Amino acid sequence: MTEQQRIWVPREERRISPTPTTIPPHPDHGDLPPCDSGIRSDKPCPRPATTHYGYAYYCDEHYAWVEAGEEEDAAESAVYHAKRFLWKAQVEGIDRLEHYLGTALSELEEERVETRRKAEKAGERAGVPRV
Ligand SMILES: [Zn+2]
Repeated sequence: MTEQQRIWVPREERRISPTPTTIPPHPDHGDLPPCDSGIRSDKPCPRPATTHYGYAYYCDEHYAWVEAGEEEDAAESAVYHAKRFLWKAQVEGIDRLEHYLGTALSELEEERVETRRKAEKAGERAGVPRV
């Protein structure tokens, strides 16, 4: 265990941070804790953590990946719900709503493709697997 790891609260003892929080440098040492990504692998992330989110500490690159993943999940959910509403409009024979939802679904599917691409690039930049 390095000196830096001893300074910061072990992962198991941390409070959950439901929203992303910037990690301040340690008041006595002025440094930042290590990123948690890859912590259980033989290639842990070498960058310092800057954001506390959930139970984990993330470096900028890994937090960007987390954010991109959440955007991807939201886009996936939006497509799912648009398909469900479109199906309902088709079953009920509401042509005007069906037209509107068909257009919206096309836009949402394009957005989903873009969020996937963004998440893949964020993952490539981060290098080490997420926590
Ligand atoms: Zn990292």
